[in-house]
Amino acid sequence: MPENIFQKIISREIPADIIYEDDLCLAFRDVSPQAPTHVLIIPKKPIKSIDQVADEDVELMGHLWLTIRNLANELKLEKGYRVVANCGWDGGQTVDHLHFHLLGGRLLSWPPG
Ligand code: 5GP
Repeated sequence: MPENIFQKIISREIPADIIYEDDLCLAFRDVSPQAPTHVLIIPKKPIKSIDQVADEDVELMGHLWLTIRNLANELKLEKGYRVVANCGWDGGQTVDHLHFHLLGGRLLSWPPG
């Protein structure tokens, strides 16, 4: 199966503005930012979407959320922020590798479109 774009970012086949990495995950700036701060947090494990998260991934999912918390703190999003995970067609997912959008730096409207 061909690698998707995020797997190529993990393997450094294509460049990205990576701001955090550890054994389990990677965080990099979105190429098309929708807010002053727009970071994508992804697991290194090739999980396609939230739908495909397995029960055994519970620790990994906790790790991703704690990483998001730490990044929001480091990026000084003290006024607040939003975490989004689009899933599937109706959810607007365009890259088939699980990712969380961390958005902040402006007032975000609700509900999303
Ligand atoms: P989705 O629509 O699947 O929730 O989000 C995919 C996100 O990946 C989009 O916000 C899009 O701008 C971002 N994206 C797509 N290709 C690249 C890329 O090559 N590099 C980076 N940094 N972001 C990308």
